[in-house]
Amino acid sequence: MKLCMIGTGYVGLVSGVCFSDLGNEVICVDRDIKKIDNLKKGIIPIYEPGLDELVLKNYKNNRLKFSTNLKEAISQSDIVFICVGTPTKKNGSGADLSQIFNVAREIRSSISKFKIIITKSTVPVTTGDEIEKIISQKVSRKLFSIVSNPEFLREGEAIRDFTYPDRVVIGTSSKRSNTILKNLYAPLISKGAKYINCSRRAAELIKYASNAFLATKITFINELANLCEKLNINIEDISIGMGLDKRIGGRFLRAGPAYGGSCFPKDTKAITTTADKFKTNLSIIKSVIKSNENRSTLLLKRVFEILKNKIKNKKICFLGVTFKANTDDMRDSSCLSMIPSLIKKGAIINYYDPTGEKKEFKNKKNVTFSKDINFAVKYSDLIIIHTEWNDFKSINFKKATINKKVKIFDMRNIYSFTKMKKQKIDYFAIGR
Ligand code: NAD
Repeated sequence: MKLCMIGTGYVGLVSGVCFSDLGNEVICVDRDIKKIDNLKKGIIPIYEPGLDELVLKNYKNNRLKFSTNLKEAISQSDIVFICVGTPTKKNGSGADLSQIFNVAREIRSSISKFKIIITKSTVPVTTGDEIEKIISQKVSRKLFSIVSNPEFLREGEAIRDFTYPDRVVIGTSSKRSNTILKNLYAPLISKGAKYINCSRRAAELIKYASNAFLATKITFINELANLCEKLNINIEDISIGMGLDKRIGGRFLRAGPAYGGSCFPKDTKAITTTADKFKTNLSIIKSVIKSNENRSTLLLKRVFEILKNKIKNKKICFLGVTFKANTDDMRDSSCLSMIPSLIKKGAIINYYDPTGEKKEFKNKKNVTFSKDINFAVKYSDLIIIHTEWNDFKSINFKKATINKKVKIFDMRNIYSFTKMKKQKIDYFAIGR
């Protein structure tokens, strides 16, 4: 099939590449000229394991193309996927849909034969209705069908998640579109993905409900970790003991820093805003948002306790600054609030991240980036393990640091308490 992905970010690029790998002809379009130029040269704009080889393979065999010409790409395609960003509104908590509606206005001037237009972006319930209205102002309804097909991939596991999804959700009441899309996804269905056809509004809500539920699971275990710290109980035992119950499941049940990233913070806010608009109080999700917002302050307090409130001139090393491991995404990472707060108190921050230096901390006073993990930790008073990259899992801290009184705050519970005790390292973890 001939596909066009509008927006070549984490979702548009990964799903575009994977669709091309399944044998479709795909044009990935973006308004960012530099991004498209780079992609044509084989330079991948994001860190995603395995993505570069897959791009190269499909670009070389001509099934994958990159372009900034939206009109041309749409006229050559049967199915158009909208994959642009839906961030939180600048002065509000709802989703900013300006990128979505701009695309809808751009698309409508290029439709002369039947097209399926799909929102893969995460959009609030009734957005599909709005897109349909915008396009139908210029195009006959017979020539297009608006479908919701939310994406559930995770950064860092995106290719695997796209290729072996638990489910494919198609929100449409059009039989024609449903048949075409079931055919498009047939290779994934044959590998075990469940195919769900529901109403467009239901599909839009499934995505928000799923993200809000996962955010709730993380927040639930984070709050329990606070209790475990008071009662001398190991939160890991609780996670295992709960997670083995099939009704609960062990994933997203590991205590750590506040959840971040490009999805959970914005999507939890957006779903509560939608519910408020329809006069429904999603009080559980509202409480999750509040608890998560407090989490970084709470963890900072622990940092202050660990350093006995003597923060001035303390050398603090962050291992990992993205919102989680295996991604370069800094959006809503808890480091974005923790590092500035520590600097304000006089700390000197040095960080190492396997995905390199971050523009968010470039030219910030008292924040430096180390290219080498051993150099990053060498002079530290406190090492904060913020993400759980494999690179951080077997560091010999005794050898790597020159400060004999170095302290470690392991926010991902990577290391064992007993091993650290044996090495006489001052070690602090979460909920243990
Ligand atoms: P992103 O910011 O990485 O990428 C969006 C891209 O769209 C950018 O490259 C931007 O230049 C481009 N764009 C914006 N307007 C355009 C236009 N008019 N024409 C062409 N290109 C345009 O965003 P993302 O992380 O890929 O997320 C996209 C959507 O998918 C969001 O709604 C998000 O919530 C959802 N989603 C994201 C993830 C994830 O892990 N990142 C997972 C599932 C769903």
